[in-house]
Amino acid sequence: MPHSQSQALTLAEAQRLDAADPLRDFRDRFVLPDGTIYLDGNSLGALPKATAARIAETITGEWGRGLIRSWNDADWIGAPQRVGGKIAQIVGAAPHEVVVADSTSVNLFKLLVAACQARPGRRVILSEPGNFPTDLYVAQGVAALLPDVELRTVPRDDIAAAIDADVAVVVLTHVHYKSGARFDMAAMTAAAQAAGALMLWDLSHSVGAVELDLNGCGADLAIGCGYKYLNGGPGAPAFLFVADRHQAALHSPLTGWMGHAAPFDFGDDYAAGQGMNRFLCGTPPVIGMAALETGIDLFLEADRPALFAKSRALATLFIDLVETRCAGHGLTLATPRDAEARGSHVSFEHADGYPVMQALIARGLIGDFRAPDILRFGFTPLYVGYEDVWRAVDILADVLASGAWDAPEFRKRAAVT
Ligand SMILES: *Cc1c(COP(=O)(O)O)cnc(C)c1O
Repeated sequence: MPHSQSQALTLAEAQRLDAADPLRDFRDRFVLPDGTIYLDGNSLGALPKATAARIAETITGEWGRGLIRSWNDADWIGAPQRVGGKIAQIVGAAPHEVVVADSTSVNLFKLLVAACQARPGRRVILSEPGNFPTDLYVAQGVAALLPDVELRTVPRDDIAAAIDADVAVVVLTHVHYKSGARFDMAAMTAAAQAAGALMLWDLSHSVGAVELDLNGCGADLAIGCGYKYLNGGPGAPAFLFVADRHQAALHSPLTGWMGHAAPFDFGDDYAAGQGMNRFLCGTPPVIGMAALETGIDLFLEADRPALFAKSRALATLFIDLVETRCAGHGLTLATPRDAEARGSHVSFEHADGYPVMQALIARGLIGDFRAPDILRFGFTPLYVGYEDVWRAVDILADVLASGAWDAPEFRKRAAVT
């Protein structure tokens, strides 16, 4: 939508955009409470209506009646590969290059150790300061575990130039969790590979949010999250990708029985499984897998180019409306204006970000706050519409103009922000 048009966009015009939206029917496939505008699907995706029934069947039918037979009869045992194959379609990988397992943090650990061990003689894990905390913390843990390995962080604009002959692996979050800034995946991957390093992408804020083409970018390794844009539910299992050409040479440090070449031979000695199987560790969380698969199946029904175009349009509209209607209230855009250079969330800095966000939540507009001063709003195009964006900015403008956020009850910090 042209900039000038969106500046003047009215509620009626936003409603017309929703009426013309080819994806509009997907909204009814989610549980969205009345009176709530949910702009936090980048942190916890909304509940698909089909999930409760699928979980109930998994529990009462497959578990209750099928009992242990369901490992075979309901293909519980094949869930990591089956669901991984579906995620592969979304990230631009072959089905046998993705499995679902563990959490994003644990998958990061497995692949960082595997990458360092595959590049003996290189002793640096390279990342950026301000990367998502778990990425830095896990890298610090790997550095403490492996002899000589260290974590080095350099600002994002200097990373490509800092990949030298000491670097074993570069680990970056493709879409930054705070700013929403997106790396050029193909260019950074090529830079890492040209220097002989492996590139590991954290796709937690990318998968389901922007077009991804791992194999088109020549990617080596990736991990990502199931409970954000894939709507897999709180604590949903995560996924990992290893390019086919690396699978035989990389080894998981978590050599559990599910990663064994023949787990049901019950032998004493570990032998790594074929392909991505070796990156499994223990028994898959079947109920969580069922919820994740339901979210992914729903996602796969949508036309992805239309979905990602809508994501860009929603975020652009939000930026334009906020800058028009909330000017003079201390908000500074912290996200790239260029839709190609960001993900599907938008952040503004505000000195009183925490109480402002609490006041918005009290009015039914749910975004989130990221310390020290970021107000973050996620646009999940499957269930967020143009009217939501318009109403969100209307609430934000009123909360700021009225000073309603400046109240003691909004300054009390909860455990989870
Ligand atoms: C959400 C997120 C994670 C989540 O990790 P968990 O192990 O599921 O807690 C990891 N990395 C990034 C960049 C994220 O945004």
